Amino acid sequence: MLSKIPTNLPPHLSLKFIKIYSSSGDLWRARQLFDKIPEPDLRSCTVLISAYTKHGFPKEAIQLYEELRKQNIPLDKLVLLSVVKACATSADVNKAKEIHEDAIRFGFHSDLLLGNALIDMFGKCRFSEGARRVFDNLWVKDVISWTSIASCYINCGRPREALRLLREMGLNGVRPNSVTLSSILPACSELKDLSSGRELHGFVVRNGLEENVYVSSALVNMYASCLSIKQAQLVFDSMSQRDIVSWNAIVTAHFSNGECEKALSLFNRMKTEGVRLNYASWNAVIGGCMQNGRTKQALEILCQMQDSGFKPNQITITSVLPACTNLESLRGGREIHGYIFRHWIYEDITATTALVLMYAKCGVLELARRVFKMIPKRDTVAWNTMIVANSMHGNGDEALSLFYKMLNSGTKPNSTTFTGVLSGCSHSRLVDEGLSVFHSMSRDHFIEPDAQHYSCMVDVLSRAGRLEEAYRFIQEMPIEPTAGAWGALLGACRVYKNVDLGRIAANRLFEIEPDNPGNYVLLSNILVTAKLWGEASGTRKMMRERGITKLPGCSWVEVRNKVHTFVVGDKSNDQSNEIYRFLDELGEKMRLAGYKPNTEFVLQDVDQEEKEDNLCNHSEKLAVAFGLLHLSGKSSVRVFKNLRICGDCHNAIKYMAKIVGVEIIVRDSLRFHHFRDGFCSCQDFW
Ligand code: ZN
Ligand code: ZN
Repeated sequence: MLSKIPTNLPPHLSLKFIKIYSSSGDLWRARQLFDKIPEPDLRSCTVLISAYTKHGFPKEAIQLYEELRKQNIPLDKLVLLSVVKACATSADVNKAKEIHEDAIRFGFHSDLLLGNALIDMFGKCRFSEGARRVFDNLWVKDVISWTSIASCYINCGRPREALRLLREMGLNGVRPNSVTLSSILPACSELKDLSSGRELHGFVVRNGLEENVYVSSALVNMYASCLSIKQAQLVFDSMSQRDIVSWNAIVTAHFSNGECEKALSLFNRMKTEGVRLNYASWNAVIGGCMQNGRTKQALEILCQMQDSGFKPNQITITSVLPACTNLESLRGGREIHGYIFRHWIYEDITATTALVLMYAKCGVLELARRVFKMIPKRDTVAWNTMIVANSMHGNGDEALSLFYKMLNSGTKPNSTTFTGVLSGCSHSRLVDEGLSVFHSMSRDHFIEPDAQHYSCMVDVLSRAGRLEEAYRFIQEMPIEPTAGAWGALLGACRVYKNVDLGRIAANRLFEIEPDNPGNYVLLSNILVTAKLWGEASGTRKMMRERGITKLPGCSWVEVRNKVHTFVVGDKSNDQSNEIYRFLDELGEKMRLAGYKPNTEFVLQDVDQEEKEDNLCNHSEKLAVAFGLLHLSGKSSVRVFKNLRICGDCHNAIKYMAKIVGVEIIVRDSLRFHHFRDGFCSCQDFW
């Protein structure tokens, strides 16, 4: 039975009823009654503000406080304490600053109880300067003040400060308690500072705090983060009671150490010992399996998770998806997508964005696009992901048009947005567009271009063949040109056969990154093309003398759920004979269609016939051939290569795609190439 709200009560009775309603959570009635009081006093306001906060309505609590402030009556400590708690829950830093000013104005700047609450509030708002000001103003500081300020620094991503404070605390004669230790130990985890962690462990033992389950959980976590798995296990084993946090920490520890069997057996022990698993437990195991390449097991556990009544949440999905960025796990990613689709968690922008990224990285741009379209309210990260995805795949126009759509939608671009758009412009030779976007950065969006943006611009100009302009651009840069900028110029010098600038760029690169074999190989390629054989062999000699070896080229292709690896001249595959025979036959057809092997790309002093033979051996050709041999239906062939695709292979694969009539997708170290009907999406610029 709902009781009627009493009317015309004397003030002390009103307050009594407000208290009764508030404590039972009936805030609506409490408010009704409150509104009937002609001149509500500080006491009833405080009761209602506390009730709002306690029952999860911090915004309403703050609103009521604002109304109270307008009355210009002196505020007391209790009402301030209640609103500080509300503000800590809502983590609104601007309100927090106002409330702090109020506290000072009404003379509570050095009150210990209120001060501690203010520090905690600023900590939750991640505003360490505010917390520090309150802390410094306190005449007396107790263990709670010290613990709160240290936690605040940890919250604000300044773990070193927290550790420094702990030492200062000791010097001030305040003894840390179990709360202090369990809050500060995560600082050691974050910094991977094993020696500070050990010091704290010593303190724990000396003060008999190891029985505290929060402290020992934090210790397990600390040792695990510092990759001291043995120690973590020792602490874990010595615990008389274990909470879920410590179980999860030890399981995660074994996974991050690559010990999947141990981790999984601990997980099974959790189940048999009747530990109540939480989201973090499931996510730790699924994420751990994915990190260690155990996609199948991860998906099995994902099913178990659902069977146990846990819906995979955002963390589950985002911990699984980033791992699905190679061929082996694309299937796993698809199943997760199926899950997202069936359970309609498209509203979860983080999960959906991770899905877009996964598809883009696996080269399935069409699916990335489709998922992106499903996101109802796109944020900067979502837009950036789609822009970068298009750039990666050489769709500069689409990257650019997405950028303008993003601006029109009122979403603010950030530094990553511009890197994405500019690299899209470079891959699609959109020079004027690139320049205009670049100039708009600081002028319209107040973002100063950084080294990456400058490198992108060098790339934009270089790829378009405007090498002199690119060189001038580098010379006029206000910041030191990085390897990225010179590398872009050098790469273009190979395409445009510009020996002079190639030499300049390469020599700068030999100084900046002397150990990168790619630069020597590129310069040597440029010189060979210009028939400067002597100088070319000089470059290769320099590379050898400096002890730099060229990374062996390696390509992967997935056929019937198995990934096959090829290196140059590979004969280790069971079907090697078939592959070479197939390449021979295909080669005939390609030659008839007009393909001429480009022997510039064989840097060996051998005769013409042998050079051509060497070209057929390249890992990407072998992988593509293997993929084509096992083609089923109308699917496309997807090959990944660890280095840049070579010029002859690039040309040859265009012919292959046309003759066989399928799409061949090659992801090399720089970008995706979609070969279709005799053309590549990169328009021969890469
Ligand atoms: Zn090749
Ligand atoms: Zn291409």
